[in-house]
Amino acid sequence: MRFHIITIFPEMFDSYLKESIVGRAIKNKLISIKFYNPMDFCEPKRRVDDRPYGGGPGMVLRPELFLKAIASAVRKIKSKKIKIILFSPSGKKFDTNYAKKSAKNYTDMVMISGRYEGIDARVQKILHAEQVSIGDYVLTGGEIPAMVLIDSISRQIPGVLGKYESLEEERISTSEVYTRPEILNYTPPGRGKKLKIYRVPKVLLSGNHKKIEEWKKHK
Ligand code: SAM
Repeated sequence: MRFHIITIFPEMFDSYLKESIVGRAIKNKLISIKFYNPMDFCEPKRRVDDRPYGGGPGMVLRPELFLKAIASAVRKIKSKKIKIILFSPSGKKFDTNYAKKSAKNYTDMVMISGRYEGIDARVQKILHAEQVSIGDYVLTGGEIPAMVLIDSISRQIPGVLGKYESLEEERISTSEVYTRPEILNYTPPGRGKKLKIYRVPKVLLSGNHKKIEEWKKHK
């Protein structure tokens, strides 16, 4: 999968994309990520944003610069299995099913991240991009949504997850997980607080896989 990110803040992705599973997937060439910055198309002494028609406090991102950045991404894409997404808090809700379908159906995903009051609406009207939301809250920009999609879609690409990280969506898994030590002694901070003992649930030490699976399902 090739991700093409349209953003005025590409540096925000640096540390996230270097580390762990996503970093390894990039190194192993299972995914690639390219950035296209509308600022690069900005005329000298002009800004990437402008005042909103109709008034209001926030600035609006200029359409021509975004269209140019998107065109420069699309020009590089040879495949027909391409999807263009524009992030918006009022878009279609992203979920695991969306991630699975994306990994299966597309080779290239163009993701457009807004900022401030958003991107001039004509960009969406021209491209008919699908508007996608990662949840019912408003973020300051579309960079975190892009990282969420990159992470979640990459997990669905064969070979991205190692043996130990295998797809949690496909097996019984719980957020209640334990590792060593078997018995944890913990004294809460503060005067007069007593030591408490926390044990790993017995069933997980039993070696009885059927019972362990049942316990996880129940959880
Ligand atoms: N004025 C816009 C509105 O009412 O829909 C919100 C703009 S928001 C402050 C700036 C940018 O952050 C949006 O253009 C979008 O790219 C991104 N964004 C914010 N919340 C998001 C969410 N829940 N899901 C996806 N993108 C989001």
